[in-house]
This record gives sequence, C-alpha cells and structure tokens, in this order.
Amino acid sequence: MMYSSTRDRSRRVTAAQAIARGISEEGGLFVPEEFPSFGLEKLRGLMGKSYREKAKAVLGEFLTDFTPEELSRCVDAAYTEEKFDSDSIAELSKVGEGAYLLELWHGPTCAFKDMALQLLPHLLTVSAGKTEPDKEIVVLVATSGDTGKAALEGFRDVPGTRMLVFYPEDGVSPMQKLQMTTQEGENVSVCAIRGNFDDAQTGVKRIFTDPAILAELEQNGQKFSSANSINWGRLAPQIVYYIAAYTALAEQGEIELGETVNVAVPTGNFGNILAAYYAKRMGLPIGKLICASNRNRVLADFIETGLYSRNREFYTTSSPSMDILISSNLERLLYELCGRDDGKIREWFAGLNRDGEYRVPPELLEKLREEFAGGSCGEEETVETIRTAFREYGYLCDPHTAVAVKVWKDYAAETGDCRKTIIASTASPYKFTADVLRAVSDGEELPAGDFAQVRRLAELTGTTPPASLLALEGKPVRFAGSVSREEMAEQVRKMLR
Ligand SMILES: *Cc1c(COP(=O)(O)O)cnc(C)c1O
Repeated sequence: MMYSSTRDRSRRVTAAQAIARGISEEGGLFVPEEFPSFGLEKLRGLMGKSYREKAKAVLGEFLTDFTPEELSRCVDAAYTEEKFDSDSIAELSKVGEGAYLLELWHGPTCAFKDMALQLLPHLLTVSAGKTEPDKEIVVLVATSGDTGKAALEGFRDVPGTRMLVFYPEDGVSPMQKLQMTTQEGENVSVCAIRGNFDDAQTGVKRIFTDPAILAELEQNGQKFSSANSINWGRLAPQIVYYIAAYTALAEQGEIELGETVNVAVPTGNFGNILAAYYAKRMGLPIGKLICASNRNRVLADFIETGLYSRNREFYTTSSPSMDILISSNLERLLYELCGRDDGKIREWFAGLNRDGEYRVPPELLEKLREEFAGGSCGEEETVETIRTAFREYGYLCDPHTAVAVKVWKDYAAETGDCRKTIIASTASPYKFTADVLRAVSDGEELPAGDFAQVRRLAELTGTTPPASLLALEGKPVRFAGSVSREEMAEQVRKMLR
C-alpha cells in the first residue's frame, strides 16, 4: 500500500517513509491511497482474539512494507501487561442502556495517547531502519498536555532517538505538568513555553522546515521526525481500538455482528475521531460519528456552517487536551470528502494561514454532515455531566470524557437516534483530580495539595487511583522554568548538540 500527501498527490511514499518523515515536505499529511476492506468475515475472524492479535491483523493491512515478524515485535513490545493495567488493553464499561465507554487510558500515562505512543517509537525505529538506517531520529512534540507525557514515556531510552517536548506553561493540569517536569530518561527533555498550544504547534511546524536547523541536522547525521498526531504511525494504531471494541461488544453479546453503532469522541486535533472514520471506511459498521468539542467550539461550528475559522477567542478549559483552534487532522478528512483534490486542500489551508479561515462548498458540507454530528459542551455543563454521570451510572468521567457524554446525550435527544454508542473515554479522572472532585463532592472544601485531593477522590467515590500517578508524589523536578515562543528554535539547537 502506498501513501500520498494531501497537498501534493504526486508525492507517493511507503508506510515506513510516511512514518519516518511524519509530515510531507510541502506541509501536507500522508494518507493511505486506498482503504483496505475489513468486512464482516474479517471482523468475525478477530472474535475471541487478544488485543495484540487484533492489532497485528488491522495494522498488517496498512503497514504492508513491514514484515509480519517486524510488526509482531512492535505490537508485542507496546501492549504489555506491565505497561497497561488492564488485560484487555482498552476496557469497555457499560453505562445505562446502549452506551459503552471505551476506556483508552489504562496505559502508563493514564490518557488515550498511550494507545498510539507506546507503539509509535517501535514503528519509527523500524521505519527509520528501512529508510535512512544510520541517522539519529530527533523527535519534536508540541503538546496540549497528554501527548507530551505519553511520547516521553514511549521514547525514553529508546536507542537512536532524542526527543524534546514543548507544552504551554499555563495550559496543562497540575498533574500533567508534574508528569512532564519529573520525566526520566537520558534522551528526552521538556520545555514550557509562554503561549498556548497553537503557539507551540505552529513553532514546532516552523522549526521542522527551518533551513538553518535542517542544515545543522544534516551535519550531525540526524533527522527530524514527528510524534504528533499528524504522524501516520499515530493514527494507524488508533484504528485498531475501534475494531477491537466493536468485536469485543459482539463477543460479549452486547451487539450482533453487523449491527450499526455510533461513535462519540471528545475531539481536539481530530486524530481520534478520524481513526473511527477510517475504520468505518474499511467496513466497520459505524453510523454517526459524534464529534464533541469543549468551549473552543471551532469544530462544532464548522460542522454546522462549513466555515472553519480560528479567528475567535481561545479559552483555557478544564479539558485542556481539547483546547485547540487548529485541528490538524481535519485536513485528512477534507481530502477524502473533496474527492482527493490536492489543489482544493492547498487553497483552503493557504486561506487558513493567510486569513485564519476557509469555507467549504455546500456539497462538501452535506457529505460531512451525513457522516458527522457536531456539538459542544461548556465549562459548567462539563461539571454537571461529571456529577450526573457519577450519580446515574456510577461512572467517574474525566472532563474530556464528560464533554463527549454530554454531546452524545444532546445528539440522541435531538435526533432520536438511539443506536448503541461507543463513547471514547480518553483520560483517567485522576489526571484532573481537582475538577472531578469539585464536581462530585457537593461543594466541600478541597484539601490542599494534589495528592491529598487524589486520596479524597478515591475515598469519596470508591475508585482506585492509577499507580503511575501516585508514584509522582515527591519525585524531583528535572525541567523547571519556561521560554518565549521566539526562543523555541534555540532550545532545539541546544538539544541537538
Ligand atoms: C488528546 C486528547 C483528546 C483529543 O484527541 P484528538 O485526537 O486530538 O482529537 C481528548 N481527550 C484527551 C484526554 C486527550 O489527551
């Protein structure tokens, strides 16, 4: 299978090249040239298999230049019982009638990013071995919180790699910050920037194409790669868990094989929900894709009006991993919906660059709305949803998951579409303890200190905090301080030496 760039179809690469490069030179994203068919027969064949076996079957369809042994090695190294505190890797929890929370946070950093970032370093080192074997891989990451920590854990002490993570100083939760500033590993470092996530992402994109820095890399025998969700090696592993969850529901007799289910996803950079769309294109019986935004409702507005506009106020919310005004992976969806017209993609994204917005034609909007429903959930509604989900279902949601629960409920109420729904549960509630505790504790005064709050939340709800978060207590900080946006390039230069 070959991949091509969304901004220049004539640039064709293999899976290994797409993963090793991260982003195409002219700024486009790599997309598979066709979607492998994964119909009912193949789905039936997965029933009863382990998550690892399901992953090998699905990824084998896309990573056709990996040998089965290579793929097997990567998957077995990523989804281990030491790293994931659940045998099923992604756990399903039924709430009420017909909704299933797909818990994607049983990995080492307690957020869904682990599902892809435990595997990516292995895919990347195999890919680099096939393309430019002697170069050291330098990975830059811009994170809105969860990606950074998951990438650091995935890459720490992986030979032949170095990594630098940028995060917005005031845009992450205290637990997220502590996870990153205490990170271990000789080859990884972390840098706070004074700005928001979009500043971090734009800065990283600029550095990736900065001729002076590229020359320096060349001289050092190094090359850039990306672990952001624009990397194909991040997206492909996310397709797996939709297929795995669907077959798991069939195994448990919750659905009939072939039954159509909806999927609801708390969305930021559009990677997670795009993976569900790709699974659908492969033949997974998915009905509506419900795209849930927080107060930064740029995607909800786009799905409503066809105008994508980042010219709006940016809000810092209780679901920081969704505080995004430029959803990079949307480009891949638009590429499919416009009939793979790379000229159109260039035009729209030049518009986004120049004017901060673009508008898609009515036919495209219609196609988009056939597949997707959008909605948003404000800050107060998020708190209210955490509270009611715990009272009604006994389910403790983190703020991101609560956004999806609320938008799914609104969608079902407005449309009467009550098909069974898989809702992506994307972070452990303990990553956002203060907000969750405030929501479920009826106005009691919160104890001082992050870990006192963790213990109080556990006591109040009868749930168990993840061991990896408890282990952060008292750990020494390795990366303190922050830099301005303009200083990002200099930080990269320092790290290269
Ligand atoms: C990253 C993240 C999201 C958003 O996922 P995208 O793939 O960027 O849309 C939602 N929730 C949590 C907890 C996350 O870490």
